[in-house]
Amino acid sequence: MLRICTSPVLVSALMLAASAFGVEAIKKDAKFTTVAQRFQTDFGLSLKLAQVDDGLFAKNHVVSALKPEHLDHALQILTWMEAELRRYPTGFVKKHSPKNLVLANTCISKTAKGQALTYSPTFIAEKATDSILVTVPGTMTPTIEILGRGYLHQVLFANILANVKEADSPISLAHWKTLESDDSKLETEPAKRLLKSSNRREGLYKTLWDAWEFNELTNVAKTDPKTKQRMDLMKGWMTSLDPQFDEAFWTALAVVPEDQRVVCLNDLTDTHSNARIKADPEIQSDISKLEKQWGFKVLWEPGSAAPPMPVKVRLEYSYFTDKKLTEFKVFMRMCRKQLEIYPGQITSRLHVKNLYMLDTFNFRGFGVAGQGMSWLPQVSFAYGLRSFDPAVVKSMDFLRRTIHHEVLHLMDRAFSKEGGPIYGSYWDSLNQEGFHYKIGSPGALNSPSQLRFYKDNTKWQGFAEPYGMNIATDDRATLYGRMMTAHLADEGRGDQPFLEKLKTDKILKAKTDRLIEFFQLLKRDLTIPAGSPLYSRLGGVFGPAK
Ligand SMILES: [Zn+2]
Repeated sequence: MLRICTSPVLVSALMLAASAFGVEAIKKDAKFTTVAQRFQTDFGLSLKLAQVDDGLFAKNHVVSALKPEHLDHALQILTWMEAELRRYPTGFVKKHSPKNLVLANTCISKTAKGQALTYSPTFIAEKATDSILVTVPGTMTPTIEILGRGYLHQVLFANILANVKEADSPISLAHWKTLESDDSKLETEPAKRLLKSSNRREGLYKTLWDAWEFNELTNVAKTDPKTKQRMDLMKGWMTSLDPQFDEAFWTALAVVPEDQRVVCLNDLTDTHSNARIKADPEIQSDISKLEKQWGFKVLWEPGSAAPPMPVKVRLEYSYFTDKKLTEFKVFMRMCRKQLEIYPGQITSRLHVKNLYMLDTFNFRGFGVAGQGMSWLPQVSFAYGLRSFDPAVVKSMDFLRRTIHHEVLHLMDRAFSKEGGPIYGSYWDSLNQEGFHYKIGSPGALNSPSQLRFYKDNTKWQGFAEPYGMNIATDDRATLYGRMMTAHLADEGRGDQPFLEKLKTDKILKAKTDRLIEFFQLLKRDLTIPAGSPLYSRLGGVFGPAK
């Protein structure tokens, strides 16, 4: 992914404080105490911070305490926990939830074997201390939030279940087991996963709190009587616990909240909004050339599908209309010229399904310039051109790099294998000692150098762009984007800052060599013929302009 801009993370000056002092600092933080008061008053939950030597909460778990630099993340998690808890009928959480909410950085069960790192955030219901243990991760991503929200409901469910006399209850496991659906008949993977999960009581319960899944399961229930029985049973049981869980409540739960909506910004009633783009022979020729060569479909018309993002958070998108015909035309031409140099041996193996050509592409409030969608059963990628200005050289250069950046993500996923030149720790170890990527390297969580990420990390060698410090694959993608456009940038004068850096930064040079090695092996393995323009471009990074 490539964001148009990244907001700096502000953290307190207390970052380097010792751990015990850290917990005290968080406890005294005004924002934290305000939230803690609300949790106490509204949900009857006492917000606590686990200490390393905490006799109570560390009884069954190896706990590491929160540090001041985790405060922002803790507040984020508490914000969406509060939002989830407020969805329950008044008084319900107070009555049915554990009494303590304990925050830690990590929390590993003493009975678990061989797990150095656990998934975070985790929500653990601990009966012995009447607590929900919540871990606050060092890095926050949209996926974490969505998964975390689901876990919170599951933990609450486990607690409610533990408090009722199960055997007499219609929700008893023995009875529930008789209502399982056969998930093998469903066609699509997501539908199968959903049904499988709804076969378990906690899985179905969780589904009710995700409007997307709730609606999907309701659809399944129309043709699958057992699913309908399970849903009715769960809802009826909840109503028996609290009559506020009535029909109106369930209807409201099925409404997708504003902040999770996919919003198309095109005026779809205007069917001629892109008539000129449609009739433009140059644009259409560029589109069809690319489609033919890559085997993908270019999605560019208003009314085309939304870009398929991995999690259901706010997504705003629009396709181009004639109002921005020039921008679209210039980008389409540049895109065709950049993408056509990839040989068929590579494009045919990437199996790209769609290329989304978007104008607006906002994912949770951030503008996205490019996105490789390698998580899809068949990969796709997208460009978002909201900020693109063909009259501005820097804007042209940025988007030209982005075009290749996303291709590298797809290639990384498809062709980089264990033991290869750009794979895993073999690549990571090229970095200076002490450097950790923000995402995906175990050391990142405990490394003080990561705190104010870009600001504190300018000293590190080996990066084409600070954005590459986020995660190894973006390190490669940003570098590759620079390599592929090094002599085209600045209207053909070349990307001088990058080319100069290559001469002095040995790590950057070593990474460049690794990428070239990766491509050379690929050339051999896929028997790509000599003279491929992709390879002349790569080979030309150190030579004269091509
Ligand atoms: Zn990226």
